[in-house]
Amino acid sequence: MSDELLRWIRPEIKKLAAYHVANAEGMIKLDAMENPYALPEALQQSLVKRLSQASLNRYPDPSAAALIAVLRQQMGIPVDKAVMLGNGSDELIQMLAMAVANPGACLMSFEPGFVMYRMIAEFVGLNYIGVPLTVDFTLDRAGVCQQIQQHQPAIIFIAYPNNPSANLFDESVIEEIIRLAPGFVVLDEAYYPFAQASFMNRLIEFDNLLVMRTVSKMGLAGLRLGLLCGAPAIINEINKIRLPYNINVLTQTAALLVLENSQVLDQQAEKIRKQRARVYMAMQAMDGLDVFPSQANFILFRVCNKPAVKIFDSIKKAGVLIKHMQAESGSLKNCLRVTIGSEDENTAFLQALKTAI
Ligand SMILES: *Cc1c(COP(=O)(O)O)cnc(C)c1O
Repeated sequence: MSDELLRWIRPEIKKLAAYHVANAEGMIKLDAMENPYALPEALQQSLVKRLSQASLNRYPDPSAAALIAVLRQQMGIPVDKAVMLGNGSDELIQMLAMAVANPGACLMSFEPGFVMYRMIAEFVGLNYIGVPLTVDFTLDRAGVCQQIQQHQPAIIFIAYPNNPSANLFDESVIEEIIRLAPGFVVLDEAYYPFAQASFMNRLIEFDNLLVMRTVSKMGLAGLRLGLLCGAPAIINEINKIRLPYNINVLTQTAALLVLENSQVLDQQAEKIRKQRARVYMAMQAMDGLDVFPSQANFILFRVCNKPAVKIFDSIKKAGVLIKHMQAESGSLKNCLRVTIGSEDENTAFLQALKTAI
């Protein structure tokens, strides 16, 4: 392909590396924060029936009214706040970023953090400001306040709990950020089922607060469905960017049915929280690891006396795929991240880890 043709691509896009997804064929997959459990047989049968009756010849309901009604009820969204849906919360982050991408505007988040905030800022031409967390992954109150005052960000993303560190930030610092921010503050609550802490009912206190959730980490990652909640005046503006039929018929149908049976997902989340406690304790009992506390469905840990990549490779040879954070320096140096799986998967991981260290 000639450079001649590719000169039409924006230079900042050419500089980017594509989001890398590891090949996990035939492996125990503990790298992507997925829920390890399938749906119960009976619910699978109902799903087949409902999906087979879906009108694939028609465009989906553009407002996804039935689905939004169930989400409102299940997620305790305040009645006078608006809701919009995205094809995963990734799409909502993209729509928010597009909406605020004035020349010179900036998107702020925290490092280490969720990589999509920075990537999407680059896609849409926003300046990205990544404010460093402290060495134990907490918000540095004074530093954050100073950065907000200096950069006047159009939008601030706070993952609550944070990815990849798995902790919840101090509520009072978040309140201060929301009060100080000149623009929007998005609380990204992707891991809500495992943290059970939320700013959802605090939407009524702050006009500039938006709360984002997803069904991905609670067991429906394949559907691609996220939601954004906040003041109707703001959501109305973001909604103008949404492509009309972004939530397809099969996703609307399947999500509706599973959420009507949400006790299934609640029970799975409870099992995962119990397994998290077990895996955490077992890892803490091993020598040579720094294990960070988790309020999410994954655990971040540092290998103390060996290169993390060696441990990663050894665990991979044993058939378990986790995530190597690949940080040369900083607070993620020599760190690995493991997703909590089923009891058997976790046993296999712990065994492989023990052998590796
Ligand atoms: C996984 C993750 C998401 C992505 O959610 P999707 O709905 O699957 O796009 C969003 N935010 C954080 C912090 C995540 O870790």
